[in-house]
Amino acid sequence: MMRRNGDLPLMVSPASSCLLQDQRAPRPVGVNMATEGNKSYLAEEEEEPIVITDLGEGDNRSSLCLIGKVATHKPFNAFGLLETMKKVWKPTHGIAKEIESNLFSFQFKHWRDVDKILSMEPWQYDKNILVLKRLDSGVQPSSLNFDFVPFWIRIYDLPIAGRQTTVLRAIGNRCGQFLEVDPKTLDRVDRSIRIKILLDTTKPLKRRTKIVVGNGQPIWVQIKYERLPSFCYICGCLGHIKRDCEVVEDREEINSLAESELPFGDELRASPMKHARVMVE
Ligand SMILES: [Zn+2]
Repeated sequence: MMRRNGDLPLMVSPASSCLLQDQRAPRPVGVNMATEGNKSYLAEEEEEPIVITDLGEGDNRSSLCLIGKVATHKPFNAFGLLETMKKVWKPTHGIAKEIESNLFSFQFKHWRDVDKILSMEPWQYDKNILVLKRLDSGVQPSSLNFDFVPFWIRIYDLPIAGRQTTVLRAIGNRCGQFLEVDPKTLDRVDRSIRIKILLDTTKPLKRRTKIVVGNGQPIWVQIKYERLPSFCYICGCLGHIKRDCEVVEDREEINSLAESELPFGDELRASPMKHARVMVE
């Protein structure tokens, strides 16, 4: 974040920008830049915003740009990611770059390409989620929130009375943020219901949830996730696996447990990984 002076935004006037760009610029003889007077003068200049309302073509270009971040704290091959996604997405003139560590930009030529890629989320790279955000023209890439990713989830064993948007919205909001329901799955009692949610990748996956429909008794409904990447079978979070989990206090005890004894497992996957859209370096 380009922030100075606590919460004050960094705003630079055209006149003072030359001072910031070249701190070694010759100073007038007899002028001490370290005096309090000059400091407050500089701070005032820094706070004065440059206001530009006519963004011209630059505004359109930025709306066709996606910013990506891999949801992991583990090191990965950034070059491999860029090369892989360039082959798959074919961004305009192959423009895909790493802006800073684990922050990537992908520039496209047409809004249809951007919409198509976003509609096919979640994307994965090396078994981790590649979180994508559309870069609105007035937003800094570093200020984007990459915690939320769209996922299709399935809800199992719902009674007929629970197969309505009000109930599904409540369940979706329990698991993340409800986005939409797949209408094709509403009428088939023998099938699970698909809903799309924004999943908070910083929180454990929900395995099930208890609901009360009408005057009925509390019941449990099971939840599974489509295209689930690697996740931790101990804490249920994305971005790392059991071996790297930081909530483990007794590693020996955990290692002595069978996979089926861990709090989370493959039963949360709605489909085998071979059907997932996995990009492996
Ligand atoms: Zn963990």
